[in-house]
Amino acid sequence: MKAEIGIIGGTGIYDSDAFENVTEVDVDTPFGKPSSKITIGDYEGRKVAFISRHGKGHIYSPTHVPYRANIYAFKKLGVERIISVAAVGSLKEEIKPLDIVIPDQIFDRTKHRKDTFFEDVVVHVGVADPFCPELREVAIEAVKELGLSYHDKGTYVCIEGPQFSTKAESKFYRSMGFDIIGMTALPEAKLAREAEICYVTIAAVTDYDVWKEEPVDVKTVLENMAKNEENIKAILRKLIPKIPEERECECKDALKFAITTSPEMISEEVRRKLGIFLDKYL
Ligand SMILES: [Zn+2]
Repeated sequence: MKAEIGIIGGTGIYDSDAFENVTEVDVDTPFGKPSSKITIGDYEGRKVAFISRHGKGHIYSPTHVPYRANIYAFKKLGVERIISVAAVGSLKEEIKPLDIVIPDQIFDRTKHRKDTFFEDVVVHVGVADPFCPELREVAIEAVKELGLSYHDKGTYVCIEGPQFSTKAESKFYRSMGFDIIGMTALPEAKLAREAEICYVTIAAVTDYDVWKEEPVDVKTVLENMAKNEENIKAILRKLIPKIPEERECECKDALKFAITTSPEMISEEVRRKLGIFLDKYL
C-alpha cells in the first residue's frame, strides 16, 4: 500500500464522505506501532493516509503519542507531505477562538519525548524553518478561499502537558511574543524534517488559554471544537487538490550534508533500522 499525503489529526476530522476505496493497514516500525491503524483512501483524487494522533478512543496523552512510529509509518508508505491538524489556545487578543493559524515557527517546551530518529548515528538536520514553505502557501490559499478568519503566520509554543499552563506560564509565553499554545507540534515537525517529509500544521483555536482571566466556559469550548472540526474538513478538501505533484522545497533534501558519522562506522543493524532515511546518502 502506498500514499502520497498523510494527515495526522483527531478522529473528528476524519472525513469518511471524502474518502473512497478505503483500506485500513496495520504498519509495524522499528519504533513500535503508530497511534492507530492507518486508513488509506482516495481523497479528492489523491492517495491519502490518515492517522488518529491520540489513537482510537483517545488513549495516548500528548507525551505518549508514538510520534516516531507515526512518521516512520508514513515514510514506509511513501508519504511525502504531512498535514497536521491541531487544536490550540490563543496567546493574543487578536487571535480569536475559531480562527485558523498556519504557524511558521515553533518553540519547544516539551521535556519527556523522544525527538529524533538518530540515536545511533549523528545527523544534524536544519529546522530553522520547521514548516514546509510550499505546504504553508497552499494551506493559506485554501483557508483564504473559504473566507475563514485566519493568521498566515505565528509561533506555536509546544508544552509538555497533559496539564494546561499556569497563569504565570501563560503570561510568560505572551511576554515572549508567542502566538498560540499546544501540545503536539513537537516532536512531529522535527521528525518529519528528519524523514525528509514536508510538514504543515493547521491550528484551530479553541480558547484564550488562561492569561485572559476569563472563566472557561466548557460548553463554548466544546461548541468551538465541533465548529473547528467542520472548518478543518472544509480546509482539507480545498487544500489537498492544490498540493503540487512534485516537490520544489528543500524538505526533500534535508539530510544532504547532515549525516556526520562516517559511513563505515554505521553498522548493518543501524542501516536496517534507519536505511529508509539514510540509504540514498550512503
Ligand atoms: Zn516541503
